[in-house]
Amino acid sequence: MVLKNIPGRGTPLYRNAGFSFNTIEDSEEAFREELRSPQSSVHFIYTRFGNPTIIETEAQIAGIEGSRWALLTASGMAAIDTALSIFQRGRDTGTWLFFSEIYGGTSTYADTVLAKKRGIAIARFQPQTGKERFDLGKLAEALDTIKPGLLFFEPVTNPLLIVIDGKKVIEIAKKRGIPVIVDNTFATPLLWRPLEDGADIVIHSATKYLAGHGDITAGVVCGNDGVLRDGAFLYRKLVGNIVSPDDAYRLGNQLKTLPLRFSRQCEKALLLAKKLAKHRAVHGVRYPGLKHHPTHREAVNLFADKGSGALITFELNGGKRACDRFIKKVSGAVAYSPTLGDPETILIHVPTVFTQERFPFPGMLRLSVGFTDFEEVQRSIFTALDEL
Ligand code: PLP
Repeated sequence: MVLKNIPGRGTPLYRNAGFSFNTIEDSEEAFREELRSPQSSVHFIYTRFGNPTIIETEAQIAGIEGSRWALLTASGMAAIDTALSIFQRGRDTGTWLFFSEIYGGTSTYADTVLAKKRGIAIARFQPQTGKERFDLGKLAEALDTIKPGLLFFEPVTNPLLIVIDGKKVIEIAKKRGIPVIVDNTFATPLLWRPLEDGADIVIHSATKYLAGHGDITAGVVCGNDGVLRDGAFLYRKLVGNIVSPDDAYRLGNQLKTLPLRFSRQCEKALLLAKKLAKHRAVHGVRYPGLKHHPTHREAVNLFADKGSGALITFELNGGKRACDRFIKKVSGAVAYSPTLGDPETILIHVPTVFTQERFPFPGMLRLSVGFTDFEEVQRSIFTALDEL
């Protein structure tokens, strides 16, 4: 039921675990339809299969991502699990190629769940030395040698913020008939819509920018192909990866401000990055919007003038001790928290969170630029830097 005279969301929050029927005949028709066309919006049976509130938010995300369909999941990891499941074919799965610089949770999932538990062969595509840039000529070679059944990448790496020319990656893979999944969490559909460039599936940790308030854990799988959707839908239903109706409802509301929030975050991040780069207490700044960034050209190619994201990674002179002092000094305005995309500006110490072995930069911090209290955040950061 859509209540047309209530402003805001048209579909109320249906918390039902199950939906009721008037007659046996009605239930028979619902089950028949469920088999024929799984994402029915006419009959609802059980929320784990589908729910009107969840479907409405899915339609909203499909609109933003420019996809024919979107399926919400309980987390970003559940979205990755669901998306990858589509391409799993028992012993015929083949090798899956992941870019090496992806979210640590995805990388560990690939090694433990996919490789160790499910026996899928996992390969990694590494950047050139120094982890500053991926050589896409080498990607073509790797695809021709490994002949993977799937390619998975993120257009902006974490925490070094290397931008990958996603259009080119998709073109190289598609020429060889290899399906591509893009984790577009950091770029958001406002900077890049990978399906328009030929990606097969896009996933997001909606926990980050899509929800944007640090108060929802959710994910989404988006695509255009109906067969892929049916595969993802069936897996989500059987494994129970679906988001809760409450979270879907709140996500639907919070999505309405995504363009406002994210464009402000990108704008303020560029401003901060430029100022940080000039400060004598700062050893170096990595922000794709700065001309000296190793992959600035890729950022311009992929995002045009839409923005360069809301994360800044920078290094302080004076290593971990300087970071400790800085974190204490800014703590009234900038919290230390291992997430990103929140309303508040937050930071983390990179080698502590991402391990010293992988990122041996004791003075490195990653700042997630928020959309609230910017003047205070800016004042606090530069006062602290002046005092270092
Ligand atoms: N993808 C990226 C790029 C992430 O940064 C994260 C989490 O930080 C995830 C996926 C997993 O998302 P979630 O924490 O919502 O499961």
